[in-house]
Amino acid sequence: MPAETFEFQVEARQLLQLMIHSIYSNKDVFLRELVSNASDALDKLRLEKLRDDALDADVSDLHIEIDIDKDARTLTVRDNGIGMSYDEVGQLIGTIANSGTAKFLQELREAKDEAGAEGLIGQFGVGFYSGFMVADEVTLVTRRAGEEQGTRWTSRGEGTYTLERTDDAPQGTAITLHLKPADPENQLHDYTSPWKIREIVKRYSDFITWPIRMVPETSGEDDGTPEPETLNSTKALWARPRDEVSDDEYHELYKHIGHDWREPLETIRLQAEGTFEYQALLFLPAHAPHDLFTRDFKRGVQLYVKRVFIMDDCEALLPPYLRFVKGVVDAADLSLNVSREILQQDRHIEMMRRRLTKKVLSTVKDMMAKDQERYGTFWREFGTVLKEGLVTDPENRDALLAVASFASTHHDTEPTTLKQYVERMKDGQEDIYYLTGESRQSIENSPHMEAFRERGIEVLLLTDAVDEVWADAVGEFDGKKLRSVAKGRIDLAAEGEEASGDEREQRTEEYAELLGWMKERLDEDIKEVRLSSRLTVSPACVVSDAQDLTPALENMYRAMGQ
Ligand code: ADP
Ligand code: MG
Repeated sequence: MPAETFEFQVEARQLLQLMIHSIYSNKDVFLRELVSNASDALDKLRLEKLRDDALDADVSDLHIEIDIDKDARTLTVRDNGIGMSYDEVGQLIGTIANSGTAKFLQELREAKDEAGAEGLIGQFGVGFYSGFMVADEVTLVTRRAGEEQGTRWTSRGEGTYTLERTDDAPQGTAITLHLKPADPENQLHDYTSPWKIREIVKRYSDFITWPIRMVPETSGEDDGTPEPETLNSTKALWARPRDEVSDDEYHELYKHIGHDWREPLETIRLQAEGTFEYQALLFLPAHAPHDLFTRDFKRGVQLYVKRVFIMDDCEALLPPYLRFVKGVVDAADLSLNVSREILQQDRHIEMMRRRLTKKVLSTVKDMMAKDQERYGTFWREFGTVLKEGLVTDPENRDALLAVASFASTHHDTEPTTLKQYVERMKDGQEDIYYLTGESRQSIENSPHMEAFRERGIEVLLLTDAVDEVWADAVGEFDGKKLRSVAKGRIDLAAEGEEASGDEREQRTEEYAELLGWMKERLDEDIKEVRLSSRLTVSPACVVSDAQDLTPALENMYRAMGQ
């Protein structure tokens, strides 16, 4: 069959343009991306063979190989892993399935500086395309394990690619980069130098558990094939003692599994011994991914069993409100055939989840105590997600409340913890007040705030949809009720000023006629009209019953179609 030419999908084309014009300043990372894909392909093959012994694939010497051809100026990264079928190549390489890509490209155009753009790129797994930073043509030859025919893909990255079937492709994938012309000014970027390749692999890919080999170039009339050299140490990072591993090494593992080009905020290590042994290496990212609140967000960490990769996105290992945590859990006593369904019911996994959850929360707490700025970043990025836990995970409610912080009338920009709020409470103030709304500004302009402002009573300003739900579910903190200033009867006179039920009764009598008239006129829309001490400037406001939904929550339910 002759080669067919296809067009890249629009988004893919735009990304390729970005790669070709190299908005990313550190080009060395293209190799990390290709090695990372090769490593994934080897993991997948080992697993598939494990599940299906009849699969016609050779798994005796799984490895990655890097070949340099100085004369042709090519660099080839080869693996004997799972490979791709003809259709898969078109789907995986020609298009960008990620729904957030359009949004990403938009943000990228708006990114003011290069660092911002670099950061954005990392979120979108443009891995394979990064080859076009250093090559003006890329060829990929692949054969899916178990299939007979292979596929050759070629592109110059300029809008089209060709696909062609081939009969002589070995199992796995080989990606050949036809490197851009050498820059005599800049020897540092000579990717035909074995020294350079060795350095990049050591720096970015040392933790890859598969051997990464480099075959030295043959010098013409030599004596036989030279011995390949293994460039990485192939040891699983999570199995090595903490003091033997540098932060940089941990960070590279994070980038590989988290598909992020940026450093993580925090690295968490946990070893459990005893009846159910496991090692965990978890990472808190520094930035929330764009699709964190979408239904198809892939949550969970990688599961290994005795160094063998079992699955990505293992959701049984952490609760949904920690879905942004990345990492690896390696359990010693699970079957290699374990399924997601079994994991959901396994008692040991349940215990592991509880322990990992507590460990993550205690790490956040430490962060809060030791490094306010880091904690601030964390909470800004992930606070909204963590608050879901206040509703769904009563067991860790206190731990979550201890690390939560909220905007408040106490300060324009600095958030407050509940503990700090309570410490500032006025004499006689019994409850913790909050108000929910769309934005800080709209809340501050609410007539409900008037009396509180007047009396100098602090109010938490909550702007996430989840806020109403958790505030209701949690109910109180440190023995103090959480109360919405928009709900029910609020007797501010009791808070500080002299309280007098008589006085109110007397006044209500005085205004009985007006109140009665208003009730009549508004009968269809309201339940009751009463005098209030909550207003100072506005003449009237609408209040819900304490047990009613607040307007924001009503809107939320309506938006969800309920
Ligand atoms: P990501 O790795 O984040 O999925 P990439 O652009 O790096 O994104 O790769 C896109 C997809 O192409 C991969 O998910 C994988 O399915 C496929 N792929 C890339 N390289 C290989 C390879 N060496 N072997 C098999 N599949 C590969
Ligand atoms: Mg990749």
